[in-house]
Amino acid sequence: MNDFSKTRQRFYLPEDLIYLDGNSLGPLPLAARSRMQEVLQHEWGEQLIRGWNQCEWMGLSERTGDRIARLIGAPGGSVIVGDTLSLKVYQALAAALALNPDRRLVISDSGNFPTDLYMADGLLRLLDRGYRIETPAPEDVAASLSDEVAVLMLTEVDYRSGRLHDMQALTGRAHELGIITVWDLAHSAGAIEVDLAAARADFAVGCTYKYLNGGPGAPAFIYVAPELIDSVEPALSGWLGHQAPFDFERRYRAANGIRRMRIGTPPVLALAVLDAALDVWDDIDMSSVRSKSQQLSELFITEVERRAPMLRLASPRDADQRGSQVSFQFEHGYAVVQALIADNVIGDFRAPDVMRFGFAPLYVDEQDIVEAADRLDIILSEKRWDNPAYFERAAVT
Ligand SMILES: *Cc1c(COP(=O)(O)O)cnc(C)c1O
Repeated sequence: MNDFSKTRQRFYLPEDLIYLDGNSLGPLPLAARSRMQEVLQHEWGEQLIRGWNQCEWMGLSERTGDRIARLIGAPGGSVIVGDTLSLKVYQALAAALALNPDRRLVISDSGNFPTDLYMADGLLRLLDRGYRIETPAPEDVAASLSDEVAVLMLTEVDYRSGRLHDMQALTGRAHELGIITVWDLAHSAGAIEVDLAAARADFAVGCTYKYLNGGPGAPAFIYVAPELIDSVEPALSGWLGHQAPFDFERRYRAANGIRRMRIGTPPVLALAVLDAALDVWDDIDMSSVRSKSQQLSELFITEVERRAPMLRLASPRDADQRGSQVSFQFEHGYAVVQALIADNVIGDFRAPDVMRFGFAPLYVDEQDIVEAADRLDIILSEKRWDNPAYFERAAVT
């Protein structure tokens, strides 16, 4: 069992702040702060170009990939970090489609995050081979699978409701029908137990700035099943996915293994920060994170419903059907979230009316939950949200 009071001390959290938004942007790990200083001064500053070799900058994408692999049930050498999640979705889908060249249908779901669907639309349009994408309701995905489907592309945990897909069952069913699977783990990695190897997932992608606390805009990761990687022809064939980038050959030859999913120069500063942010996970076992996060989310639902019956639970009531977040719907949800933020409780809002709260046991405890519910109660009962300042939409919600 992990001692989460110890992990909490490894983060910088402003005084009196209750942070229930680690599902959007994790807080600052103290190790990341000192690592950034050190890399700026001693690596970039002192070493300059020599840093690529002296400080092993080039190895950071694979090293951080291996550290993430442990958290998502993937073997070493099957995960690599770089670029943004949108790009990793594109790469994974392009590779998956090429492995199923005679089929023209992609299935996702209506709860998927817009960028995943936008990237898919753009890719299918570019390929111009008669591809179609369908987005049934999440509960209808299994029934939409057939032997006409090339790729099943899903986000495991719904960003709005927290509803969890059964990765193992859906991947199994997909494989029976000859379908390749792409799983987005944006709200799974560091939040719930994921076992890509046991589920026999083909491709997976995810963020590192949410539950993995890699910092704003931290690079994304991609997993390719080891038995597939050497048949993947990279669609984004950048020089760092080349077998020998520094031979500067005219012809592209894909590198062996997961390195072929690199594209261009790795974001060294961001990777160094991520590497330090991953330190806290070294002694963590995901089953204790999951059970603690379930306890916290159950407590939050109980405490909120007891005080605020006007809110409607927008997440599955069964903790086993949810990721690590709880959402409530309320007509004036945006204003309530702004009032909460003004009162030092940070959650977030997703249009049209969803208030979203994420639970990261590494730095959130029971006391935070009860205190957050108390402050929410006051905001609702005293209608403190009914303030023109709280109705003005910011650019980022
Ligand atoms: C957060 C999130 C993204 C964000 O993609 P970026 O390229 O990092 O901006 C994409 N997909 C899902 C499912 C997400 O939750």
